[in-house]
Formats: sequence, structure tokens, C-alpha cells
Amino acid sequence: MSREDEIAAGLARVRQRIADACADAGRERDEVELVVVTKFFPAGEVRVLAGLGVTDVGENRHQEAESKAADCADLGLRWHFIGGLQSNKAAAVAGYAAVVESVDRRKLVGGLARGAAQGGRAVDVLLQVSLDPPGREGRSGADPADLAELAAAVEEHADEGLVLRGLMAVAPLGEDPAAAFGRLAEVRAAFLDQHPSATWLSAGMSADLEDAIRAGATHVRVGSAVLGSRPRNL
Ligand SMILES: *Cc1c(COP(=O)(O)O)cnc(C)c1O
Repeated sequence: MSREDEIAAGLARVRQRIADACADAGRERDEVELVVVTKFFPAGEVRVLAGLGVTDVGENRHQEAESKAADCADLGLRWHFIGGLQSNKAAAVAGYAAVVESVDRRKLVGGLARGAAQGGRAVDVLLQVSLDPPGREGRSGADPADLAELAAAVEEHADEGLVLRGLMAVAPLGEDPAAAFGRLAEVRAAFLDQHPSATWLSAGMSADLEDAIRAGATHVRVGSAVLGSRPRNL
């Protein structure tokens, strides 16, 4: 099987899983968007994905993302930045990312706004919320209690092009994802009360996309189930 055929088969399987999960959850198929996570895979494979109708791709490291976005500029893809973000890189990320999903502290917002304004482009923002217990090591994402303040900071920069779209989360390791996404659904309901237009919910990866769709995800971020295991040394 050629690499192209392998990617096409992986993509078809994931699209079918999404369709089945939507049907099981009583949701319409078009309520859920697939973001294919291409981190560690070369730009040539991003190109193959675009040829198969993929419109949204996710990356988690700035340098890699920036260079692939430049290589693939002719494809009209929407780049989602989904990784830990340093504040001194935020403006640069807003230069190519259509969606920044990992905004978890106020310090990032000014740089993102500056980058959006410089490029004269809108940047969709998701607030990353932590589903880990407070104080857990390596925790990423904002505490649910801090979302209101963070949302207000993003909304202050609407004139520069930041658009508050919703929330993003990753299920904690070692916990049943269904339970974690159940908590996420509650956090999101409270958030939507305050921000009714921030309807996006990015949750679910290769291992747990069905649980996420059941809990209301509008975007799933899927890497290895489409592209295979990531090469380690790239
Ligand atoms: C790598 C990554 C994914 C995709 O993970 P897979 O298990 O390969 O589907 C999704 N979300 C984030 C934040 C990631 O870093």
C-alpha cells in the first residue's frame, strides 16, 4: 500500500467513526469538524490530506507549524495551533494560525492581538480549560474559575481581530475520558450562559473522539488514527 493510500484509508476510518459517533449521540454529522493533527509529519503529507478534502490541520510547535504553513500556503488550509504557547511567540503564531486553541493565560492575549492586527486578519480563539485536579504537575489549561477573566481579556481585543469562539480541553491521562468530558460539558454550559456566541468545543483525540462527541464536541483533533504513529526523531 502506498503512503497516499494509507493516509486515505486512515482518514476514511476516522470520518466513519465521527459519523457513527454523531449518529449514536443523536447529533447531525455536520455539527462536528475534523482537525487532522499533522505534528511530526512532513508538509508533503499535509498536501496529501488537502487533496483528500481535509480543510483544517493542527500543530503544536511554533517553528514546525510556521514552516509547514509557509510550505502549504497555496492550499488554503486553516491552521489550528493546539500546543503550549510561549508569550514571546504569540504574535508570530497569530500570523499564520486561523485558530489558536490553547489560550490558557492572560499573558498570551496581547501578543495574539498584536499578531492578528499586524496581519490584518481575524484569529479565532479557544480557551484551553484544564480537566486535571488543581495542583497536578504538568497541568496545562486554565482553571475553570479563571475562564471569565480570560474571556474578557480576549473580548477586549475584538477590534484587533481576536474572536472568542469557545473552549478546548484534553482528557487527563489515567482517567476515564467520558467522566472528564462530562465535567467539561458542565463547564461549557456555564461558559455559554455568559458567552452565548462562543459555541465551539474542541475535545477528543484518536483514542476518545466518541466520548467527546457524546459530550458535545464541535471539533475533534485527530492525529495518529489518521496518519499512524508519529515519527519520534524529527
Ligand atoms: C497530538 C495532539 C492531538 C492528537 O493526538 P492523537 O492521539 O494522535 O490523535 C490532539 N490534541 C492535542 C492537544 C495534541 O497535542
